[in-house]
Amino acid sequence: MKIAFIGLGNMGGPMAANLAAKGFAVTGFDIVAANLDRATAQGIAAAKSAEHAVKNAEVVITMVPAGQHVLDLYRAILQPAPRGTLFIDCSTIDVASAREAHRMAKAAAMQSLDAPVSGGTAGAAAATLTFMAGGVPQAFERASPILSAMGKRIVHCGDAGAGQAAKICNNMILGISMIAVSEAFVLADKLGLEAKALYDVASAASGQCWSLTSYCPVPGVGPVSPADNDYKPGFATALMLKDLALAQQAAAEAGAATPLGQHAEEIYRSFSERGGAGEDFSAIIRYLGTAKRE
Ligand code: NAD
Repeated sequence: MKIAFIGLGNMGGPMAANLAAKGFAVTGFDIVAANLDRATAQGIAAAKSAEHAVKNAEVVITMVPAGQHVLDLYRAILQPAPRGTLFIDCSTIDVASAREAHRMAKAAAMQSLDAPVSGGTAGAAAATLTFMAGGVPQAFERASPILSAMGKRIVHCGDAGAGQAAKICNNMILGISMIAVSEAFVLADKLGLEAKALYDVASAASGQCWSLTSYCPVPGVGPVSPADNDYKPGFATALMLKDLALAQQAAAEAGAATPLGQHAEEIYRSFSERGGAGEDFSAIIRYLGTAKRE
């Protein structure tokens, strides 16, 4: 099967390499020459433009930073691709742009799927990503063997935009719960309660959650996590902030009340502006630990 892969960055590069390694004929393009060169060393044929990459494609995958990049690309590549091509956007973008991308694809007689991922660069390299997909069942079925070559879990979440909706709702839970867990450890410390004691109680009690038991923000407590590696990402605060901002944008458009999601975005933004952008998002505990109660 002929696949065009546009956007060969930190995620797209290893994802495209996995497809090539599993026997798909992948033609790639990236506006950064070094990223394209790295991809060609991993079995991907280099195209001189996105338009050239899609010319004979049966499937087109995009993995770029934001909604505007996806829509600009779709304006350029829907026309030169063969009719009936399946367009899969794996970028994390706003729900409104995702739905617009589906609309444009349908108007050009293409099939389409929004299929953002979780699992980070490690999951992209190991082909263990989770895909959250939105689109008609036929598009999902057609995409499944391709997504399976890059990931271990593929969930059809519903119609156009449902994959993006699932991704930002999940990450809003994660952002809020990491702050909740961090606040509890900061308070415990001020009360003279050992972090290990709080962990032993809460990890088997009603405070239990993934941010505590799989990704504990306190070094030396629970399974190994970025906290044990000086908060090197992992999942960078800048990416968490991006997803929380997308959640707030969607909440505003849909009229949903998400006060904790809103506050979590403000807290991560403040941490990010004070030098935390490149640290793992669990480093929010250091920021909270130095903050004073007003
Ligand atoms: P990245 O910046 O490393 O890669 C994006 C790539 O897209 C870059 O190489 C850039 O040159 C290329 N690009 C931009 N516009 C283009 C165009 N018009 N034509 C061709 N190439 C173009 O970002 P990333 O970390 O790979 O993330 C990609 C997407 O995946 C983002 O939406 C991000 O939010 C999401 N995501 C990232 C992670 C992560 O851990 N990095 C995890 C989950 C989801």
